[in-house]
Amino acid sequence: MELGLNGKVIFVAASSRGLGYGIAREAAREGARVVLGARDEDALERAVRGIETETRGEAFGHSLDASSAASIRDWIDAGVARFGGLDGIVVNAGGPPAGGFESFDDETWAAAFDLTLMSAVRMIRAAIPHMRARKGGSIVAITSGTVKEPIPILLLSNVMRSGVTSLIKTLSRELAPDGIRANTLVPGRIDTDRVKSLDERAAAAAAKTVDEIRREAGSGIPLGRYGSIEEFGKAGAFLLSDAAAYVTGESFVVDGGAARTVW
Ligand code: NAD
Repeated sequence: MELGLNGKVIFVAASSRGLGYGIAREAAREGARVVLGARDEDALERAVRGIETETRGEAFGHSLDASSAASIRDWIDAGVARFGGLDGIVVNAGGPPAGGFESFDDETWAAAFDLTLMSAVRMIRAAIPHMRARKGGSIVAITSGTVKEPIPILLLSNVMRSGVTSLIKTLSRELAPDGIRANTLVPGRIDTDRVKSLDERAAAAAAKTVDEIRREAGSGIPLGRYGSIEEFGKAGAFLLSDAAAYVTGESFVVDGGAARTVW
């Protein structure tokens, strides 16, 4: 299937590794020019080189702190200056801290609001004029399976990502007349550095090996294993592309069948 991403300019936030990197690499494989962003400039540079070596696409990296409005504006401006426009954007950032309700003060709530919800608002706000100039575009926001089945210890993520889901659904109607689609991409358990470190912590707490933890977690997933960033990236590339031209306002789950919900 021809995705129609060839030559498109795709911005992927928080993409020096993990889910963001996976989407950027698949988009670049399809011929997109990709703009990466992350705080660690060395890691960003390695990611740009990795994508250019592994794919036929062009990649450009610019420093991005998803918590900062000014940094988001700089990132979009730098990418547009480099590639001349913007056809799609993947909204993504590191996750807010884990913990129960009584462990968080107002400052922690405000920081999670900036990192997870306001980063989506600000990235989309900055991207819309460029998409309108192209007469269309695609917004993909990475959320989490916890929006469908909240996990108590991930309270901040549950709440803020539910907000992102509602934002995207609302925007899908508001932006449709401009030819701009908006969807969320919902990971279950995808094998990234973040998941590795969560497994290491779980192993230490349960006095088990990391392999035992992974086997136990994998056996609770109908497809019997974690997903790869390549598998997740292909779903992202699809939503960004013209192949998904009639898909908007959708929450697209990539979880090996883990969620028990119908919706
Ligand atoms: P990861 O730790 O492997 O990679 C995170 C990336 O985000 C890195 O490139 C890092 O440099 C960048 N980053 C972190 N904070 C940033 C910031 N403030 N500004 C800009 N860049 C920043 O994590 P991941 O597994 O790829 O997860 C990405 C997001 O998806 C996280 O919010 C995570 O909570 C969420 N998520 C992941 C999974 C999964 O299975 N991996 C499941 C559910 C939700």
